[in-house]
Parts: sequence; C-alpha cells; structure tokens
Amino acid sequence: MTSVIYTAPDQCRRCYSCVRRCPAKAIRVHDGQAEVIEDRCVACGRCVAACPSRAKRIVDNLPRAMELIAEGAVVMVAPSFPAAFPQWQPGQVLAALRSVGFAGVYEVAFGAELLSRAYRRRFDEQPRRLTIATACPAAVGYIQKHAPTVVPFLAPLLSPMAVMGKVIKERLRPGVPVVFAGPCTAKIKEREDPSVAPWVDAVITFPELKALLAERRIDPATLASDEFNPPHSRTGGVFPVPGGLVHTAGLPSDLLESLVFTTIGLEGFIDTVEALTRRLARGALPELQARFFDVLYCQGCTGGPLVENSETLLRRKERVLDFIRRRPGLPSDATWSRSLDELGDLELGRGFRSEGRVEPTPSEEEVRQILSRTGKLRPEDELNCRACGYRSCREKAIAVFRGLAEIDMCLPYLVSRLEAMVDKLNRSHEELTTVHDQLLRAERMASMGQLAAGIAHEVNNPLGTVLIYAHLLLEDVEGSEQLRADAEMIVREANRCKSIVGGLLDFARQNKVDRRPVDVAELLTAAVALGAAQARDSNPGVAFVLDVAPGLPTAALDRDQLLQVLLNLLRNAIDVMPGGGTVTIGARHLADAGELSLTVADTGPGIPAEHMNKLFSPFFTTKPVGRGTGLGLPICYGIVKMHRGTITASNRTDGPGARFEVRVPVDAPAAEAGVATLLS
Ligand code: SF4
Ligand code: SF4
Ligand code: SF4
Repeated sequence: MTSVIYTAPDQCRRCYSCVRRCPAKAIRVHDGQAEVIEDRCVACGRCVAACPSRAKRIVDNLPRAMELIAEGAVVMVAPSFPAAFPQWQPGQVLAALRSVGFAGVYEVAFGAELLSRAYRRRFDEQPRRLTIATACPAAVGYIQKHAPTVVPFLAPLLSPMAVMGKVIKERLRPGVPVVFAGPCTAKIKEREDPSVAPWVDAVITFPELKALLAERRIDPATLASDEFNPPHSRTGGVFPVPGGLVHTAGLPSDLLESLVFTTIGLEGFIDTVEALTRRLARGALPELQARFFDVLYCQGCTGGPLVENSETLLRRKERVLDFIRRRPGLPSDATWSRSLDELGDLELGRGFRSEGRVEPTPSEEEVRQILSRTGKLRPEDELNCRACGYRSCREKAIAVFRGLAEIDMCLPYLVSRLEAMVDKLNRSHEELTTVHDQLLRAERMASMGQLAAGIAHEVNNPLGTVLIYAHLLLEDVEGSEQLRADAEMIVREANRCKSIVGGLLDFARQNKVDRRPVDVAELLTAAVALGAAQARDSNPGVAFVLDVAPGLPTAALDRDQLLQVLLNLLRNAIDVMPGGGTVTIGARHLADAGELSLTVADTGPGIPAEHMNKLFSPFFTTKPVGRGTGLGLPICYGIVKMHRGTITASNRTDGPGARFEVRVPVDAPAAEAGVATLLS
C-alpha cells in the first residue's frame, strides 16, 4: 500500500502539532522528524491541516487522474461539493468538470441512496442486531486498527463511493475508468482495498480538482450551470451531514426509543468506540439500548480537513441542502424509484477484518524509569500539559517505550534543561572572564617584572660603587663636620636606593624557591608574633586573632618567603587601621583542590573599587610619601607566583575591612622545574 500521508524530508520543525492532532497516535518522532506510521495511520488528513511548515503532505493523485481523463474517464462527485466550492454555483462546478475532459459527471449521492436501502433492509430484518455504519472510511479504518474487538459489528457493506463506482462500471458504462472527487484523504486509502479497487480507478481531492482547473485555465465562474449525468438522487445528498445516512435510510430516529445513535465530531466518535470496546470487554453489549451506530469521523464530510471553506458548519450544511432542494434535475418520485429498483440486484456487500496490532505494554517499573528521565520522580512532577502531543505524561512514557515518541518531546523538561544549560554557560562565561582578567594581570605583571629586573640589575652595580666610595669618604672626612654630614647623607640615601632595588629584585624574583616541609600553624604563629611586635610600637590599638583550622597538613613551602608575604600583609593591615582594630590571620586546608588557603583580614575602611586592579602594580601606594615604596604587595605577588599559587584581594562581606587570600599548593607541583620566576 502506498503512503497517503507522508512527511517531506527535513521539513519537520518539531512543533508536535501533528502529534497532538492525530487521534490514532500514528506519528512517530524519530531523529527530530515526525514520521507517519503506516500501520497505525487512518489517512484522515488532520495532521496535514495541523502542520504549520507544510511538512505533512498528501500523496499527489493528479498525474494518475489525468492519465485516466485521457483514457475517457468519468468522474463521480461527493455530495459535499456545494460546501467545498462556495465561490461557484454547484452547476458551474459540474460544467467545469466536463470542460476538464471527463466524459461523464455522476453523483455519489445516488450510490448513497442505493446503499441506504441495503441499510434499511438489514435493520428491518434484524432490528436487535448491533450494527455500525461503514460509510466513513476514516471511521472504519480507525475501528479496524485501533478497536479490533468492534470490527465484527461493522456493517458489511460498501461505501457510497464504491457503490456508485460499481453502478457506473457494472451497469451504466461498463469498462469506463472512474475517478472519484471528494473532500477526504481516507477515500484514497479506501480505494486501495481489494473490495473497492475494482470500482474506483483513482481518487482526487477537492483541492486537487481546484489545482487541475487552474492548470487547464478553466474558470467555473464563466461557465453556464450544468447537471449530473443520470441517475439523479433525491435526498442522498444529505449523507455528508451528521445523521444523513439515518435520514436517507429512514431509520427510526425517535430519541426516546434510542435505537439509533449518531456520533458528532471526532471526540464523539472516539468516545463511542471506546465505550463499545469497554462494554464488549465486560460482556455488557446486550444492555445497550441503541442498536445502530451512525458514525462519522469528522463533523460530517462538509467539515472534512480538505473542505477549503471558512464558513460555519451551519452555512456549509445550508449550501448542501439548498443544492438538493433547488437543483433543476431533481427526479420525480417515479423516475427515482425506478432507477433504484433497476439496480436493486447489485451486490453491495463487503467484509472487514481487524488490522489491530498487539502493542508491547511496559511494566510499572519501566514507565517510572522513563518518566524519571524527564525529571518526573513524583506524581506531582507529572504536569500532563499535553505539549508533547500526548494526553498525559504516562501516555507519552508508554509511547517512548513503544518507540513512538522521544524523550526530548517533553517541553517543560526541555525548557528546564535549556535553563540549566544557560546557567552553566553563564557560569563558564564568568569563569572565563575571571581567568582572562587574571591572565591580563599576569601578563602586565610579567612585563613589569622584566622591566624592574632590568633596571635593578643596571642600577645595582653603580649603586654598590657609590656606597663603597661614600664609606671611604666617611673615613677621610675627619675634622669637617659639614663634610661628614654630607657623606652620611650620601650613604643613607644610597642605602635607601639599595633597599628599593632589593624590593624590585624581590618582585621580579628570579631566586630559587627553597621548598621544605613547613608547619603552617607554626608559620602563622611566628608571623602574628612579629606583626604584634611591630604594632606594639606603631599602633598599639591593633588586636590579632589567629584562626587556624585543626589538622593542617605539613606543606612544601619556602618558609622565609611565605613569612615575608604574611608580614607584608600584616603591615598593610596595621597601617590601614591607625585608630586600632582587629587583624585575623587564618589558615585552611582545601583538600579537594590540594591547596592551602592563608588569609589576612582587617577591620579597616576596605579597598576602594578603583584601587582593586592596581593593588599589585609596583609603586602603587596609598601611604604618605616616605612611608611606603609601593613594592610590598608586588613582592607578595612575585613570591606567591613562584609557589605556583594565587593571591587575591577583596572587601569583607561580613563587615567593614579588607581581606587578602593566598592559595598555594600543599605539595610542590610536579611540573615545578626547580626555579620558578615571575617571568615564567
Ligand atoms: S492522517 Fe490522520 S491518522 Fe494518519 S497520521 Fe495524520 S492525523 Fe494521524
Ligand atoms: S506538524 Fe508535525 S510534521 Fe509539521 S512541523 Fe510540526 S511536528 Fe513536524
Ligand atoms: S509534562 Fe512533558 S510528558 Fe507530560 S504531558 Fe507535558 S510535555 Fe508531555
């Protein structure tokens, strides 16, 4: 069998509209494409109307129809046609069909009337026998594929289309090719059934008919109205509206008697089929009052997916009824009865078989496991929002189990996954920005260190000479107080220069890191003792708190250099609190990172935002002239870098003050090649 409905390759945009609209759950999402599952599809065409990207398409029937026209085919038209072409008079549509080249134009409504007689006969002969009408191929297909236990109750009769085809081919024009034109894609599939195929050679849809007229440049509006070829119908034209079959067959429609039940719309149809299935399972059929079910898949054929008419269903129905009442070719009772009688011996029977498949059913554990993959761990996580196209999360989980749906079809799950990804991206962006800033600073510091080292080396030697000669001068100036004072001034200032040069060399340090096992708690205690001794003279209002976590490991550090770092930080902390305050010096082992965290926090005014980026630059200082060289923090930076560590400054979040944190590896990094430098 050919696929009546298919998905154009790579056109699906994954909106799941078709999945939501398909009552047969005949659409499988596979590799991001919503594919039609032939075995489940009833060719109702609802997915075609629902697809916003025109990915769902109907097989092209026109080429075959045109071949048949060339062979002298006739066309038979579905009775809904006055509703499908509201822009033209019904008679103009019939004239246009002749202009296209069809050798005859017949009405399916006559076949419907012939068929109605068969229904009536069946009802009269066995009024208590449960019968489901089989005029609607989508309804029949749904029952065959999705309600197999109901199949034995399908009326074993041909559809109006097949009956009319048989009338034409067996009696009116034997051997002529017959094309059916109608509003229904399910008719295309029905035609392929072996019991129908001999009577109908091709099916075209009303939109295809319109396209054919356009291609042949035929404008029905310019044509004089025409009539169908006989035999003409009287009331069979009401078949496309709900209840049309019951009316035409003259079945009892007394509501209180309730022997006949007519379904309205798709929901009503499915509700009825499910009710019958449940009753059959319970063995409760005999209790049913209704014995005849007039079922239509759509809201009648005038509401079919291929009726391109924006008018209300009421107006469409009026158009069909107006045509029946006002057509010029309405036959007399006698002519009509004679036509039907002449064809009364035609065999209109056919059989139906179940095409249902046994679907695998997941265990409760398997359903739970699938639900958990989209974060549905508790009943309240199951939103049942239907965005995936399934009525509940559970139904969708079962579809996943059966290979019909994909996990990613759950919209709330996708949204939360996207949110998590955006969060992650934001976090990595922040981390990248931080690393980028650190790299820029490291680069700046490295070039500064290079410059500082160069200058210090160049200045160091002449400075040594100045100092030697200044000391010699001091020895030679006995007797002149003025000269002695001048020489002492030279020595003092030269020593100051020497200490600045020493600081620059420390900052750009190219010395070896002499790592040895260091007791960190002891190191901090020593630093605090030295810091406290300094503060005793310069700032007695400063208190020191030692906050060392228990169980610190022994670390491989250059003790003297780390002590210098701590003392520089302590000195700064003391200096920023001239009126006194508290300095807390702490140590923690960051086991996961394999690092030691040493912190020095004060209760001073904190660091202004505009200073944050300059703190570690050589010669940047906020201290008064003569009180600081601006080399203390750069030296700390140089030492920490040589330990393959980091030093950061921030303002405290638990109160006023600044906080410096030094992080160094507990063990010497394997990659450390003996000498590490700021410039490396
Ligand atoms: S034609 Fe109908 S049954 Fe087939 S996939 Fe589309 S909506 Fe589902
Ligand atoms: S309606 Fe179906 S075929 Fe069309 S884009 Fe949406 S998911 Fe794809
Ligand atoms: S929460 Fe997800 S699985 Fe559940 S119905 Fe909505 S889209 Fe479908």
